[in-house]
Amino acid sequence: MKITFLGTGTSQGIPIIGSNHPVCLSENPKDKRLRVSVLIEWDNYSYVIDCGPDFRYQMLRSKCTRIDGILFTHEHSDHVMGLDDIRPFYFKQGNISLYGHQRVIKSLKQRFDYIFATENKYPGAPSVDINILENKPFKLNDLKVVPINGEHAELQVFGFRFKDFAYLTDMKTVSDEETKKLKGVKILVVNALRIEPHRSHFNLKEALCFIEKVKPEKAYLTHISHLLGFHDEVEKNLPTNVFLAYDQLQLSI
Ligand SMILES: [Zn+2]
Ligand SMILES: [Zn+2]
Repeated sequence: MKITFLGTGTSQGIPIIGSNHPVCLSENPKDKRLRVSVLIEWDNYSYVIDCGPDFRYQMLRSKCTRIDGILFTHEHSDHVMGLDDIRPFYFKQGNISLYGHQRVIKSLKQRFDYIFATENKYPGAPSVDINILENKPFKLNDLKVVPINGEHAELQVFGFRFKDFAYLTDMKTVSDEETKKLKGVKILVVNALRIEPHRSHFNLKEALCFIEKVKPEKAYLTHISHLLGFHDEVEKNLPTNVFLAYDQLQLSI
C-alpha cells in the first residue's frame, strides 16, 4: 500500500494569504502546506481521503489519473470544497463513489446541489454514487476499512484504519473504546494543529499523548498550522518515532 500526503495544512493552508508570519514566509518547501488530504493506493486501486479546495492541484501534482472513490472525514470546507473537480475523473470513469457519514452526505447535497440533481441536470455536472458510512467496518474492493469515531469539539468525525495504517484528522477527543481499534497499527497519522490548545483540534501535546496511547511503530502529524512553527525546528524536538508529515511525502506499508 502506498500513501501520498496530498496536503498537510490546516484550513487556511500555509502560507496564509497576506500573512507576514515567519513560517508563512519560509522558503523551505516542507513549510508549504495545502489543505489536508491523503491518497491511498494498493493493487490498482486509488482512494482519496477528503477533497478540499486544493484537490485539483493535488491531483495534478501527484499525477493521479484515476480515483476509485473519496472518503470523507467530515464536512468542513477544507475537507470538501474541491468536489466539483472530480469532473475530469467522472468524464473518463463515470460515477465517482463517495463515502461518508449520513450527515456529511446531506451537507454535500446542500452545497453541491447540482451534482446530486435528478432533474434538468446540467450536462457538465459530475455524478456520484453515495455510500453512507456508519461506525462499522466496510469494504473498499477487497480491503476492509475500519472507521474510528472521534469528536472535533461537538462535531462527529471519522478516521479510517486500512490494515496496519490509520489516518485520523480534525480530532479533539477519541474515546478509549475507539482508540482500541487502532491497536497494532504500524503507521498512525494524526492531527496536531499548534502548540497552544485549541477548542476543536489536538495541539501538539494532545497528539503526542494520543500517539503514546496507541503506540504505533511510527506516527506522522498532519493538519498543521503556521503556529506550530518551522517544520525542521519542530521535528527536531519530537520523539524518535514521531515525524511531521509534509506535502508530497510518500510512505509504503
Ligand atoms: Zn480541517
Ligand atoms: Zn474540521
